[in-house]
Amino acid sequence: VGVYLRHDYKHVTMDTIADQKMPEWCKRNRVTLIQLGLQLYKRASEDSRIQVSGSIDDWIYLVSDPHRIARRCHAGNFLFFNTEGRLRSCMFGTEYADIKQTPLDGIVALDGFAEARKLHASCSICVLACN
Ligand code: SF4
Repeated sequence: VGVYLRHDYKHVTMDTIADQKMPEWCKRNRVTLIQLGLQLYKRASEDSRIQVSGSIDDWIYLVSDPHRIARRCHAGNFLFFNTEGRLRSCMFGTEYADIKQTPLDGIVALDGFAEARKLHASCSICVLACN
């Protein structure tokens, strides 16, 4: 079992990282989410069937102040594309190509791919940086 918290950021780019906000629901339920994180990490330490990564500190930042997450984003390990085949910089990022019209080995040569790599190196506000 893998457990992940997810915000619903929109159009994350180098220019909008600082403007991304947590959902109001998350703010209202911060204490509960922190308590659940503490329970989850404790259970995971006792039961190898439960998979968590990162630290409880970053879980707490994710539900209270995501801009303080210390770990690096690992979105660079993946290619993200939607059901129409549009490549995106990450699941919250912007589109930069159509996978149906771009050969796989051509993707890495795209300016959009290089921009996505810069974004991954600069942004650490979501679960891909902390869990
Ligand atoms: S941490 Fe990575 S995956 Fe998450 S919003 Fe930022 S760039 Fe996207």
